[in-house]
Amino acid sequence: MAPPVRETFVELGGKRVPVRLYRNTRARRIILRINDRNGNGDGVSVTLPRRTPLREGLDLIHEKAAWVLERLGGLPPRVAFADGARVPLGGVDHTIRHVLDGRGVVRRQGNEILVAGGPEHLARRLRDWLRKEARSQIGRLVGDKAAALGRTAGRITIRDTRSRWGSCSADGNLSFCWRLVMAPETVLDYVVAHEVAHLAEPHHGPKFWRLVKTLTPDMEASREWLRRNGEALHRYG
Ligand SMILES: [Zn+2]
Repeated sequence: MAPPVRETFVELGGKRVPVRLYRNTRARRIILRINDRNGNGDGVSVTLPRRTPLREGLDLIHEKAAWVLERLGGLPPRVAFADGARVPLGGVDHTIRHVLDGRGVVRRQGNEILVAGGPEHLARRLRDWLRKEARSQIGRLVGDKAAALGRTAGRITIRDTRSRWGSCSADGNLSFCWRLVMAPETVLDYVVAHEVAHLAEPHHGPKFWRLVKTLTPDMEASREWLRRNGEALHRYG
């Protein structure tokens, strides 16, 4: 194999992962491989077709972050929604408590989330509650930010999306991943600002980023937080 055309690093889930980029004229698509010399992954090799920009290879690593980290053995363990588990809410760790009273009600009390009802329904109840929390927080932020822009948002959908935190359709409907409710509030605020800004400016040009900056307090720090920690939000529940 020809020597790499570039050697670099990517930040993945708080880990600095070495990357080697190769060209192969016969490659039809981008191929990712884990370097596994010593039986423990120590980096990623990316093979690109002749004309594919190197950037796209690096983007693919971020898209496949969960797979890459798992293969590298660096993925933090999954946290099931269960009594005693710790789950972040607005970036602050909360302990899940199963309580016997209250007929299936979920509520936040200090740094605890109390989930009532049968223990077999705890995970589903908590997930539903987090989605509802996400919906109400996001709904409020979308309203405020769209008003600040003098635009009206369409329908808001809350999903469990792995590949993107939010999206804005051509007709102004917005979609968000409920897991953002676990991130620090400024990060959720940024993602909403990002999608709302698309109501006025569909493309990621300088004008767009200026607009986002006017809608959220700390755009750069929030983007950096998502790059470093976003993937880890998918290990809960
Ligand atoms: Zn965007």
